[in-house]
Amino acid sequence: MSDDGVQSDLPAAAAAVPAERDLFDKFAPLIAEREALLSSGVRDPFGIVMEEVKSPTVAVIKGKETILLGTYNYMGMTFDPDVIAAGKEAFDKFGTGTNGSRALNGTFHDHMEVEQALREFYGTTGAIVFSTGYQANLGVISAIAGKGEYVILDADSHASIYDGCAMGNAEIVRFRHNSVEDLDKRLGRLPKEPGKLVVLEGVYSMLGDVAPLKEMVAVAKKHGAMVLVDEAHSMGFFGPNGRGVYEDQGLEDQVDFVIGTFSKSVGTVGGFCVSNHPKFEILRFVCRPYIFTASLPPAVVASAATSIRKLMHAHNKRAHLWENTRQLHGGLKRLGFRLPTDEPQSAVVAVLLEDQTQAVAMWHALLEAGLYVNVARPPATPAGTFLLRCSVCAEHTNEQIAQVIAMFEAAGRATGAIG
Ligand code: PMP
Repeated sequence: MSDDGVQSDLPAAAAAVPAERDLFDKFAPLIAEREALLSSGVRDPFGIVMEEVKSPTVAVIKGKETILLGTYNYMGMTFDPDVIAAGKEAFDKFGTGTNGSRALNGTFHDHMEVEQALREFYGTTGAIVFSTGYQANLGVISAIAGKGEYVILDADSHASIYDGCAMGNAEIVRFRHNSVEDLDKRLGRLPKEPGKLVVLEGVYSMLGDVAPLKEMVAVAKKHGAMVLVDEAHSMGFFGPNGRGVYEDQGLEDQVDFVIGTFSKSVGTVGGFCVSNHPKFEILRFVCRPYIFTASLPPAVVASAATSIRKLMHAHNKRAHLWENTRQLHGGLKRLGFRLPTDEPQSAVVAVLLEDQTQAVAMWHALLEAGLYVNVARPPATPAGTFLLRCSVCAEHTNEQIAQVIAMFEAAGRATGAIG
């Protein structure tokens, strides 16, 4: 009883209140690892600030002009004058934001326009735009594979695919990276009746290797599974129309869903799914990451629509991107760097290193020399793999790529990564 005679549920004495547990205690090992890394004098690989961006391939970092070789700007669309003009016009006409979900007041003229551009680019009947590619995977995978059904995914799948699986209620089955045999074996062990979704990627972004989609899709179909392919890292430069690896391997009538993003070849931000499924539109009512978030700003979708339409005719850019990729891959291989693929398979050229210390030392030396690449480590990479990831851009000149190779040579010798 309290003084005023009202019964209270609060404990009478402070001593009865348990000590607060700091929920950050679990991060202690990561905090210690980061402190040890930074105390060695290297710059923080995950704390880089672009002070000025001059073009798709050059930025200013800590006052120094730096070649960009770590962005996903494969087709170099970020500074395209038509793409910029479309964004500016939309700012003037529609303002800065939509203030709402696609499902309510957040669908403007250019959201429809960009979905139409996607239908034309992919030659599909359906296209749904999400606020990011991450959300597209999250929404589509969690919505279409439900309780009692199965998602079968490559062990090296992107985090957004794993998170889409975690968000849904389906049973999850993983198969060994790019192993057609393992996919077949695991599908063969599942009960025949329930629905199944096989999730694949055209290009795996950490090692830059391409999936044997033709064989994998054949196996999936043999077991009665639907197929979703994430083509985030291939849009614009794989296949006769730049649709991706699935187009390159002649699988357009067999892949059920294609996931993509505007944050790479398109040069802005946003995600999407395209499909010919006759009931595809229902996803707008069942994908929580589509419904319960604000839609993309009008300037973003207007820029994306213009960029996608230009990518349909970007044949010279694609040719130059492949030329750059071959030049970089060949140059690094000749220097003795360890590369995950013998031949260049995509615009991602990864350089394998011994451990985190060597990877960060190389990264630091390259940055000091005026080159930015990505450091990648588990869990983004397969277990035990530390690498520097180069993503090539169609706007890199041959001279820039030659400069990049020379910088890698100097940094590799200085850090002992090459002899
Ligand atoms: N899928 C893959 C394979 C990716 O690599 C990424 C991003 N790196 C995404 C999806 C998510 O794309 P977004 O940046 O549009 O969220």
